[in-house]
Amino acid sequence: MRFNPKATIDKGGMRDAGRGRSGGGLSGLPIPSGAAGGGIGGIILIVIIFLVVQFAGGGGGGGGTGTDTATDRYNECKTGADANESADCARALVEDSLSAYWSNTLEPQTGTSFSPTEVVTFTEAVSTGGCGNASSAVGPFYCPLDKTIYLDSTFFKEILEGQLGGSGGDFVEPYVLAHEYGHHIQNLLGTMGKVKTQQGPDSDAVRLELQADCYAGMWAKGAMSTTDAKGVKIFESITRADIEEAIDSAKTVGDDRIQEASGGEVNPEGWTHGSSKQRVKWFETGFSAKSIASCDTFSASQL
Ligand SMILES: [Zn+2]
Repeated sequence: MRFNPKATIDKGGMRDAGRGRSGGGLSGLPIPSGAAGGGIGGIILIVIIFLVVQFAGGGGGGGGTGTDTATDRYNECKTGADANESADCARALVEDSLSAYWSNTLEPQTGTSFSPTEVVTFTEAVSTGGCGNASSAVGPFYCPLDKTIYLDSTFFKEILEGQLGGSGGDFVEPYVLAHEYGHHIQNLLGTMGKVKTQQGPDSDAVRLELQADCYAGMWAKGAMSTTDAKGVKIFESITRADIEEAIDSAKTVGDDRIQEASGGEVNPEGWTHGSSKQRVKWFETGFSAKSIASCDTFSASQL
């Protein structure tokens, strides 16, 4: 992946919340059975956004987080050249690309009007605007109530590559951001209301997650055509090797792989996101999709 050095970064969608004190952390959330504690257990919660919705309202913060201090982490991010040098600037420009892609795609294809999400980075812990307090252990997640993606950027090296053994690469984070952005699109479309069954290989939860992977694939395909506010192309290149990195990450966060990594047995009844194979399949379905309708995991008889 290489950004076009001439592209201009609009960092309006980015905010860094600084370092929060962990101690509370989405305490109302149950760790799904079968999951080990600690980091790996947390991973299972990565993107179980409907759980966040369900339980954050009721339980809320069991323990407080410290006062977050906003930082100027994105201050120096001005051009694609900066994005080629800095992971923070790259994140900001990927967010621009996602927002450009969906703003050109959502309404023409569905009639639903688009509004962007915000991406909030944090260290250790964060107080969200609608989903209570979260610690880094939950992994990147989308909070539908404040329409915001939250992530601690240490997740990629420490958890995804470290504990789960993903191969890494600079297209890993764009894939995860695109998946979370997919949840934002689902939120705008009202898809989250369809989730009635929350666990198991054919559950609505799994269908929601696989659909977010499918939307991530759509963006990965369309990203090369996205432009900044002046119409300048955001990317100079996205190679097949980049796409392979995204596919490897999708594999890495499959429920079966996580269950194995946490020392448990593979038990499909505990699945909430889908198997490695399914996650790869739906990312690829999105990559070759003609329209958003191809990502209808809720009607699919075979996931
Ligand atoms: Zn998800």
